[in-house]
Amino acid sequence: MAYPKIDDDIRTKLEAIVGAKNVSFSKDDIEKASVDESPLEPHPPAVVVKPGTAAEVSAIMRLANEKLVSVVAQGSRTGLAGASHPIRGGIALSLERMNKILEIDEENLMAVVEPAALVDDVHKAVEKVGLYYPPDPGQESGSIGGNINTNAGGMRALKYGTTRDYVQALEVVLPSGEVIDVGGKVVKDTTGYSLLDLLIGSEGTLGIVTKATLRLVPKPKHTALIYAPFESTHDAAKAVSEIIRRKVQPFALELMSRHAVETVERYLERKLPDDTHPAYLIVGVESNSESELSTQLETAGEVCIENGAVDAFIADTAEKQRQMWESRKAVYDAYNTFYELDEADICVPRGRVPDFIDKLAGVEAKHHVQIVPVGHAGDGNVHCNIIRLGGTDKEWHEALEASISDLIDLSLAMGGTVSGEHGLGYTKRLYLVRKVGAMQVELMKGIKKVFDPKGILNPDKIWG
Ligand SMILES: Cc1cc2nc3c(=O)[nH]c(=O)nc-3n(C[C@H](O)[C@H](O)[C@H](O)COP(=O)(O)OP(=O)(O)OC[C@H]3O[C@@H](n4cnc5c(N)ncnc54)[C@H](O)[C@@H]3O)c2cc1C
Repeated sequence: MAYPKIDDDIRTKLEAIVGAKNVSFSKDDIEKASVDESPLEPHPPAVVVKPGTAAEVSAIMRLANEKLVSVVAQGSRTGLAGASHPIRGGIALSLERMNKILEIDEENLMAVVEPAALVDDVHKAVEKVGLYYPPDPGQESGSIGGNINTNAGGMRALKYGTTRDYVQALEVVLPSGEVIDVGGKVVKDTTGYSLLDLLIGSEGTLGIVTKATLRLVPKPKHTALIYAPFESTHDAAKAVSEIIRRKVQPFALELMSRHAVETVERYLERKLPDDTHPAYLIVGVESNSESELSTQLETAGEVCIENGAVDAFIADTAEKQRQMWESRKAVYDAYNTFYELDEADICVPRGRVPDFIDKLAGVEAKHHVQIVPVGHAGDGNVHCNIIRLGGTDKEWHEALEASISDLIDLSLAMGGTVSGEHGLGYTKRLYLVRKVGAMQVELMKGIKKVFDPKGILNPDKIWG
């Protein structure tokens, strides 16, 4: 479908809705809105519009729907699948002005926030009153609206689940401009189809989130972590399965290879406690009682040693733990500083992580790339950094796509999935059908049509 240009009439109407200073054609704003954190080439919008209220979002959508202008909601643009790229130009709807934490409701254990509130700000605000918002996607500057629309996971998903499990209610502007409220502050709700669940993870294709109510839990009192070096990645992966089998329930179980450790050390210019072994596990545990914390640490440490760890360094002070998590969270930036790469964010059943890791060497050899598995091994969401080893640009892009395709096939053959947490966006959209089949793709397209009959909201995403 052809979308029209932003003519003077549309511009004047947009300016009347949000004020001239919030309708930007500046080179700087357009460039920023053209990309996310994926390696996808830029797709510039025709205009960047910055609403400040749900009523303004509604008026913009009404206008766009009438004029058939494509609209892409943008949070912090830290996505890794090109989901916020304005593929067809049109309006980049930057929610950046709607960033307030509106309420922390200690009676109901909930927080009400605007969509561009940063996840890090939500963490800090609720922790001040002894509460905890468990989802902890690695990129702390991601927005709650983006987290909800990608169903972001992160390190604590192993124990607590993903963003989906902490969204209670949403205010959403539909492509027609109508505003709906789904969910509520109730703990139980079996009233009709769950549109709330449908909207979560919909990658900005069904509606614009303008307010979110999030579920909170009490903050655990004590935390500690283990940093365990292993003689092989396979052993580290086996220890992951065994820790889970022994019912320790860490909040994080992260895998780092020596390559990842060295890359982070080089980037942060700081040493980790050990960098001479092929693989490392970071095991994070927490509890309200110190004795329970010690038991968890002991069991997790024992399992690591039984499975080939040569040591188990314990970080029991807040500062040591902060440094360790900072190192883990710096992996993405470190790799992007020193290498050309993309990432496959497959997720396999946790028990298959060792098998999956063993098969990476075959993909490396077949496509002449280096594959470094990093990340959320405890929930099976092993991020595979696929690194360029040489060749022409064309050869590299072909090798990258073929590697991603093979990794996805490996994951699917093990009962896994295409994306654990980054979503399909634009870059992984062609793989949806492999996971769900043609029938489910048609059902999804039907749902999209009901929400967005004119196809103006974030076109070209999720399926091919
Ligand atoms: C270093 C690094 C580490 C990361 N670690 C993790 C991790 O551990 N776990 C994880 O899950 N992700 C991770 N990510 C990916 C990214 O941070 C998440 O996908 C995040 O949820 C994106 O939020 P955002 O605000 O940047 O959204 P954007 O990139 O701006 O948008 C993402 C999608 O959400 C839609 N959207 C945004 N706001 C709204 C709204 N208000 N209404 C409707 N649609 C909206 C967009 O249209 C788009 O489809 C990481 C990224 C980086 C760069």
